[in-house]
Amino acid sequence: MGFRSAPQLKSTAEISKLREANLIVAEVLTEVGTMVAPGVSTWDLELRAREILKERDAKSAFMGYAPGGGVPPFPAVLCTSKNEVIVHGIPSKDEVLVEGDILSVDFGCFKHGWCGDSARTFAVGEISDEAARLMAATEEGLAKAIEQMVVGNRLGDVSNAVQQHVEALGFSVVRQFVGHGIGKAMHEPPQVPNYGRPGRGLRLNRGLVVAIEPMVNVGSPDVEILDDGWTAVTRDRSLSAHFEHSVAVTDAGPLWLSKP
Ligand code: MG
Ligand code: MG
Repeated sequence: MGFRSAPQLKSTAEISKLREANLIVAEVLTEVGTMVAPGVSTWDLELRAREILKERDAKSAFMGYAPGGGVPPFPAVLCTSKNEVIVHGIPSKDEVLVEGDILSVDFGCFKHGWCGDSARTFAVGEISDEAARLMAATEEGLAKAIEQMVVGNRLGDVSNAVQQHVEALGFSVVRQFVGHGIGKAMHEPPQVPNYGRPGRGLRLNRGLVVAIEPMVNVGSPDVEILDDGWTAVTRDRSLSAHFEHSVAVTDAGPLWLSKP
């Protein structure tokens, strides 16, 4: 099924299962977030996430994920993306956090065959004003996009909400990576860009479930992939933040599936 085919709408029962998977995701992100501090390695976070997966009898959506094209399977359950790393950073014992870093943590899992996916960016101790503004802008942009997830709106309204918010604050949105539909697979149609024109694109119907995930840079939106085939950094090495929520369109409005 390609990204261009029509999205599969989910029933209320299916959305409940997606909520269950996303609650595990939220638990992992909250727990890992409490550990983020100077002196902690991203591998320490990886090990804790693995423990929770086991306790909850859930399966990683990232470990072994292979996009093809000669890229090796992803070797971890977390993506840990520090400072200029946008997304898809690989946890490592050698990567020890220091005061002033920002760390984006992305986590996805399957429970009863349904997928949850969410990401948050954490401050390591005291951070610069610029880093704090970047993180706030990204999280607010995501919230504004989620507000647009109502029946009758179009996908362009969701995408545009992120772009408007973060660009007005002087930051840029990454275009090379986008959000996605989510269900029994982690990546389903439609693609959800973090830029676009209001009133355009797919009409939003009840049962649409997507992961919206703005990646926002202090400098240019350009991306470079490192030699490991995964780690995506800002080409100008400026700071980048990433927040993601899985969200359902319901008759009662947007349902944040990955909120704790
Ligand atoms: Mg994710
Ligand atoms: Mg995602």
